[in-house]
Amino acid sequence: MLRALWSALLDIVYPPKCPVCRRPVAAHGAWCDVCLAGILAVRYLNPAGHHFKALDECLVICEYTGGVKRLLHDMKYRQAERYAVHLQWLLAEGRAEGILESCDLIIPVPLSAGRLQERGYNQTERIFKDWCEKNAAGKWRGDVLVRRRETLPQWELDLARRRKNIKGAFAVTRPEVIRGKHIVLADDIVTSGLTMEACAQALKKSGAAKITGLALSGGGQ
Ligand SMILES: [Zn+2]
Repeated sequence: MLRALWSALLDIVYPPKCPVCRRPVAAHGAWCDVCLAGILAVRYLNPAGHHFKALDECLVICEYTGGVKRLLHDMKYRQAERYAVHLQWLLAEGRAEGILESCDLIIPVPLSAGRLQERGYNQTERIFKDWCEKNAAGKWRGDVLVRRRETLPQWELDLARRRKNIKGAFAVTRPEVIRGKHIVLADDIVTSGLTMEACAQALKKSGAAKITGLALSGGGQ
């Protein structure tokens, strides 16, 4: 009752708006139909086309363009943590929770310790963690996969350099947690898929049984 009243009051003081064009929307976190239509594109990537070996499949929810591109950029480089709720809303809108049911664990693609300190948070964790706890309580594990060294942003490099850049960058700290498990590997963006593939390789080398990628956005640069 109190919560409903508080929420109604909040809607009057801060009416919910689309994070991209500021049009009024029905609920906090929501996007307007126009901005949503320009980005929502739920699909599985073709594993052969992306040379996935360890990564068994990868579901992508949006195109990496328009509003998603801007919100993710601001989360990474302008401390705009407040956008997490709008990006979680896209996961729900794309019915991404369906793939959480059959998995055992959900693991985010990690940042290096240096990058984490600089940014103060891992944007992938900020986007996915609460949403995962809501839809698959107890499956989130942010402490078993680490990025051993700093890597250059993949988009700055050509394909050959991307491979070299990411090779052996990830390590599993607690193999006993993931052995024999079906893991959903979460990331904010998938482009070439090499980062997810490198994570999947590290996880499978430590005994994981199956890796399903889940990327909020994909394609584009
Ligand atoms: Zn809009």
